[in-house]
Amino acid sequence: MALAGGLPRLPSHITEGLPLSDSSLLSALHEMLGSRGFVPGASVEERYLSDVLGNRGESPLAVVRPADTAQLSAALARCHAAGVPVVTQGGRTGLALGQLPRAGEIVLSLERMNAIEEIDVDAGMATVQGGVVLQALQDQVEPLGLMFPLDLGGRGSCTIGGNIATNAGGNRVLRYGMARELVVGLEVVLADGTVLDDLKPLLKNNTGIDLKQLFIGSEGVLGVVTRAVVRLFPLPADRTVALCAVRDFAAVRALLRHLRAQLAGDLTAFEVMWSSYYDRAVTLLGRPAPIAPGHAFHVLVEASGTDARLLAANVERALHGALEQGLVADAVLAKSGAEIAELWRVRDLAIETSRLLDPIVPFDVSVPIARMEAFLAEVAAATQAVDPRCDLLVFGHLADGNLHLAVHQPPDRPETFDAIEAAVYGVVGRFRGSISAEHGIGWLKREYLACSRSPAEIAMMRTLKAALDPRNILNRARIFE
Ligand SMILES: Cc1cc2nc3c(=O)[nH]c(=O)nc-3n(C[C@H](O)[C@H](O)[C@H](O)COP(=O)(O)OP(=O)(O)OC[C@H]3O[C@@H](n4cnc5c(N)ncnc54)[C@H](O)[C@@H]3O)c2cc1C
Repeated sequence: MALAGGLPRLPSHITEGLPLSDSSLLSALHEMLGSRGFVPGASVEERYLSDVLGNRGESPLAVVRPADTAQLSAALARCHAAGVPVVTQGGRTGLALGQLPRAGEIVLSLERMNAIEEIDVDAGMATVQGGVVLQALQDQVEPLGLMFPLDLGGRGSCTIGGNIATNAGGNRVLRYGMARELVVGLEVVLADGTVLDDLKPLLKNNTGIDLKQLFIGSEGVLGVVTRAVVRLFPLPADRTVALCAVRDFAAVRALLRHLRAQLAGDLTAFEVMWSSYYDRAVTLLGRPAPIAPGHAFHVLVEASGTDARLLAANVERALHGALEQGLVADAVLAKSGAEIAELWRVRDLAIETSRLLDPIVPFDVSVPIARMEAFLAEVAAATQAVDPRCDLLVFGHLADGNLHLAVHQPPDRPETFDAIEAAVYGVVGRFRGSISAEHGIGWLKREYLACSRSPAEIAMMRTLKAALDPRNILNRARIFE
């Protein structure tokens, strides 16, 4: 028998064994979204189940792929009424396991909501749907002489909605800030299907509580980001990229001070690779390293500006000064787009390089730059105390105080995963750092939230969650139980 929308009823093997409430929910979602918008659990493709690191979730009840906000709102309202949990997915590049489904959940994928709806060149703003892939927006605005400055290694798959939900940082935070700084307006759908429309392209709008801020960086536990107005900036006429070899951490800090003073707002990236990272990463290049391994640190410096000749001259002068002052032991300056890409490639090999130490326990932490050296010494000691074979690989967006660590876990002792996490997060807590600088808490770091947040802060988060999602259906048990 056909349902009202003319769709065939779901085959009985799909709903077989499910509680009546679940099976009638699935039938309703199928009717509402059609075959393109509804994939029953038994037919769900592998890509919805795993992340880029190969972590795997559990089989969901179904995947829903609404075509627009109205469909998404209607689907959520049904899930809310049925009390069935929903996990939102963008590009699944998240590194905190938050997007991976758990048994009994419905996956809400934004992949069909991928329209760039408007680009306002005069205002420097774009209105996009939540499922737009970051690189698609970057590519679309570039011929207009504009840039969407958010940039990170997962650019080819991650979505603007996911970037906003995780308040992504990336390579240009130093100059343009995190995702939060780039969001002007937001449309969000709450757990019960209510559409909160704050999609105004207004830079200034001090009218009561700025509600959109609640949803930026809250990892989808309070609402689903369906559309956004984001800021665009003039495309710099030129980029200059250099790789510097540096002998010790004091010189790395001095180099950052020096480049900030010399290049001011033109400095867009200051990425530091410890030798534990760089010496391994260059073995993956398949060609000679831009600077031979063997230095304590390698720093990738990027500057961009509107006057190409002036920029090149300023960067060369700044690097010359750094060499003269002994801050830099060796340096190479990229002379073409291909050379720029090649230098960035060393830094973009982060996931592949970390895998060389497999199995690893990954970390994404923040500590003040002034305390980083002491912090890493304590982390090394604490992990060695867990097992002397623990090895440590370090790189990060140092100017933002953000370090990425991968700790090798002895493969014959899988139980050390928890001990390594506890050891490192214990040190982060003592240094009053953050257990997640960029990637979020997700499922992975829930137990350690209290290392970075006070009981009062966590209680406030729970109050907000209960108010906006009283049946606890959105990204259940992510961030906190
Ligand atoms: C190679 C690589 C490099 C990376 N580099 C960086 C980096 O430099 N800086 C950085 O900050 N991060 C980095 N990341 C991780 C980063 O968090 C994600 O890449 C990205 O921001 C997540 O977007 P996504 O669309 O893939 O989200 P997903 O992985 O699909 O989801 C991530 C979280 O957001 C939620 N979510 C997704 N979409 C929505 C939505 N529309 N509404 C509400 N909630 C939603 C999910 O439920 C989940 O909790 C990197 C990842 C990779 C693979």
